[in-house]
Amino acid sequence: MPGKVILVGAGPGDPGLLTRRGLDAIRSADVVVYDRLVSPAILALMPEDAEQINVGKEAARHLVPQEGINQILLDKALEGKTVVRLKGGDPFLFGRGGEELELLARHHIPFEEVPGITSAIAAPAYGGIPVTHRDCCSSLHIVTGHQRSGKELDIDFEALVRTGGTLVFLMGVSALPAICRGLLDAGMAPDTPAATVESGTTPAQRRTSATLADLPRRAAEVGVKSPAVIVVGQVCALAEQFDWFDRLPLKGKTVVVTRPKERAGTLSGRLRAMGADVWEYPCIATVPIDPCPGLEEAMEGLGDYQWLALTSPVGVDALWRWLEEHNLDARTLGGLKLAAIGPGTAKALSAHGLRADYVPAVYDAAHLGEGIPAAGRVLILRAQEGSPALTQALERRNIGFDDVATYRTVYDNPRSEELRAVVESGTVGIVTFTSASTVRGFVSTVGADADFSRMVGACIGEQTEAEAKRYGIPVQVARQATMDALVELIADLRD
Ligand code: SAH
Repeated sequence: MPGKVILVGAGPGDPGLLTRRGLDAIRSADVVVYDRLVSPAILALMPEDAEQINVGKEAARHLVPQEGINQILLDKALEGKTVVRLKGGDPFLFGRGGEELELLARHHIPFEEVPGITSAIAAPAYGGIPVTHRDCCSSLHIVTGHQRSGKELDIDFEALVRTGGTLVFLMGVSALPAICRGLLDAGMAPDTPAATVESGTTPAQRRTSATLADLPRRAAEVGVKSPAVIVVGQVCALAEQFDWFDRLPLKGKTVVVTRPKERAGTLSGRLRAMGADVWEYPCIATVPIDPCPGLEEAMEGLGDYQWLALTSPVGVDALWRWLEEHNLDARTLGGLKLAAIGPGTAKALSAHGLRADYVPAVYDAAHLGEGIPAAGRVLILRAQEGSPALTQALERRNIGFDDVATYRTVYDNPRSEELRAVVESGTVGIVTFTSASTVRGFVSTVGADADFSRMVGACIGEQTEAEAKRYGIPVQVARQATMDALVELIADLRD
């Protein structure tokens, strides 16, 4: 039985512009065959056990020739695999998607196609250029500026000029002077607004605007590089007014997110939405302690406790894993009062239908221990290396407790010279620390002897800050220990 091939448009770069059907396809893949234009954030969505084949093409130097790609798709499908062929933008717009399907069709391999958001529309859009506007044009023409080696451009400039529509050229960077010349010679007004948008929808996006006559000179001056779209038409004049992407508060900032992989999503997504270039570098991982005799014992004697205190969403997950394994549910905790260290943990509880009875005003271990209104014994379920501030506070208040470790943090990530280099050079300005353990994980990844002077550690709270300071990392602390406040802090760090 042959497998199937799904041709997926990955969009122009911003991972948020991948379609839901595209994401489903990627998640179902045994093999992913991808291009140079597919962004790292989208490649990160591939299942870890999927085979990844890079057939990326450089302009003149084809890594894998087209026939080779066609053959790979066929061979893998004949092995019975679900093959996802990921392409930048939309697969059928100058993407040779059609050619890739021909061989499959001849061999009766089932295939599907998932359209993608094309750079021809999205790159101008992120550059503040709507490709049509009722007041100035009534058509849009998407043209390739690719020159077969040594040949003239095969474009009917006169026909294009006659349409009066917006013109978008793909693959046109090296032919930019010839394109502008062609349009001028065909009678287009030299002062027609025009622009290039490079690396559209990505943190590296750059728009260069000029008149048609002046664009080649301006582009050479600033060094416009592929991939870029060239837009010609009155709509380009709107960019100054509509340039929303460049005005995002974190545009131009590079932020490293050190959270464990499964928890990085929301923080990264929010930073990206504010325009930051986010590098996910999970420096720690959390693993449940399993088997966990301490938890078994505590759960058997649950009647001895008045309060249950949880200090992270991971702790809530670990508890739920145990309940589910024992065919139990939230009702088991029915006789207990619940304390959560902060809103993140309270939210994790509410996902199971439980409301936290107590959340301290300041979201850290010390305030939890000082404020928990306990008259009876407290069961604490948390990480092995949990902060002593919680238990010390309870001791001072003569409140009995059991401190049970249900998960631990591991730092088995390899040393990264790449991360060290970008931190030392100042390429990466901001590193987020959401717990003291992420600081330790980060330091073990880059080496304690690294030069941290050019980065800022954006810390979620005081204990995290204290840990970062121990390594000589310059720090800033969120006004409150929440993701919201951390994001706010990072936004304010812009210079
Ligand atoms: N199928 C793709 C186009 C492939 S041709 C799509 O629909 O977007 C490759 C050309 O697309 C590049 O030379 C460039 O002109 C354009 N391109 C692709 N990604 C781009 C991006 N992020 N920003 C600007 N142009 C891009």
